[in-house]
Amino acid sequence: MYNSLKEIQNKLYNKNLQMEEIVKFYLGKIYKHNKEINAFLEIFEEEALEKSKIIQKKILEKKAGKLAGLVVGIKDNICYKDHKLSASSKILENFTSLFSATVVERMLKEDAIIIGRLNCDEFAMGSSNENSAFGNVKNPLDKTRVTGGSSGGSVAAVSANMCMIALGSDTGGSVRQPASFCNLFGLKTTYGRVSRHGLIAYASSFDQISPMTKNIEDAALVLEVISGKDNFDATVSSEIVPNYYKEIKNLDFSKKKLKIAYLKETIEHNGLDKEIKNKILNIIKDLKNLGHNLKDIEFPYLDYLVPTYYVLTAYRSIKKTKNLKDNIIKSRSEAFGKEVKRRIMTGTFVLSAGYYDAYYSKAQKVRRLIYNKTIDIFKDYDFIILPTTATTAFKFGEKGENPISMYLEDLFTVHANLAGIPAISVPVGKHSNGMPFGIQIYAPHFHESKMMAFANYLNNL
Ligand code: GLN
Repeated sequence: MYNSLKEIQNKLYNKNLQMEEIVKFYLGKIYKHNKEINAFLEIFEEEALEKSKIIQKKILEKKAGKLAGLVVGIKDNICYKDHKLSASSKILENFTSLFSATVVERMLKEDAIIIGRLNCDEFAMGSSNENSAFGNVKNPLDKTRVTGGSSGGSVAAVSANMCMIALGSDTGGSVRQPASFCNLFGLKTTYGRVSRHGLIAYASSFDQISPMTKNIEDAALVLEVISGKDNFDATVSSEIVPNYYKEIKNLDFSKKKLKIAYLKETIEHNGLDKEIKNKILNIIKDLKNLGHNLKDIEFPYLDYLVPTYYVLTAYRSIKKTKNLKDNIIKSRSEAFGKEVKRRIMTGTFVLSAGYYDAYYSKAQKVRRLIYNKTIDIFKDYDFIILPTTATTAFKFGEKGENPISMYLEDLFTVHANLAGIPAISVPVGKHSNGMPFGIQIYAPHFHESKMMAFANYLNNL
């Protein structure tokens, strides 16, 4: 088993390991586990093996890129030229991508090997991966439970050692919630840090492509490559991309006293599992004992987060059609799953003439209030800590037919997307039911280095 990219690279450069062996290792795991876990929708076996030979040669010639040695899986909503792309939807079942996402181009250029595409909730809408047209993904840590969603295949693939890291996408928590359910780090960057070019949009002012990893260093190394200005996406910030790996190594919080806020309403929420709550309270105590400044603060908007998120993200632009009407009705009815249809209907409703002001435009105003309040908190604090999820991974079917109970899965995660701030779920504990859980750190815009360093610090407490 490989624990980190640096470990792999050391072995590759010391000639203790060949690139082909690494790819074969992961292929072996895929063949062993994927049938049951259902993380990969497609495996790029031949191509990965071929690439391994080219990269091995480059390593010997000392010409290999920064990510040489990395075997990565990508969520099935990220374009990879000449490869199939379905967003786990029947409607795209036979679609082949004509171009690669910027993140894919950049990773390939640095010699990462993409080993396959990963199952997810249809169009990234969901919190359990039960909305995929291609079947559920099982949690490798307990196969009777969900992985979380929507990046369920991504998290399961890393957790079951079928690839070193995976890319997911986070619109309202789709990277952090499954990371918490599967004992990984799930990092959502500041909105505009990573290009969305080539990501099938769910909600364009929320989406970010994000890494799911076993450790912080891997997230830092990948982020360095995929972040930064892109001519294909005008919402990407021109903020300089730091050397995250170096920066996190140089940040030492045992010497620096931090100011950390925790949101009273999240910790006192009656849906929060007792053991998760106690763990957070213990972490707060430990941090205080280490000399950091922690304070509970009020966040009066907690109950508004999920409704605001669902009104704003359900927005879909509907194209007018005339003669194709029947065809469109038929294809949409048969090829979209239930949850996607529900969101299209919700979006059409909240944007309709009579209700636009009551819902969509109001939700935009609430979003602004949430943003302002968040910025205010960061005037006085370095970080906010809060739960990632209210519970550990639940059983298949447990959330039943009630969409509201599923939407409440997003209670602690959507805040970061509404405010555009970076957030990370850090694995911190194991519940008495045997399942892991994470807690979240929120940081000010573009403070990814500091946030990752603090995540390491928390993980090692
Ligand atoms: N669970 C949330 C939703 O269904 C988040 C999804 C995501 O981040 N892609 O909308």
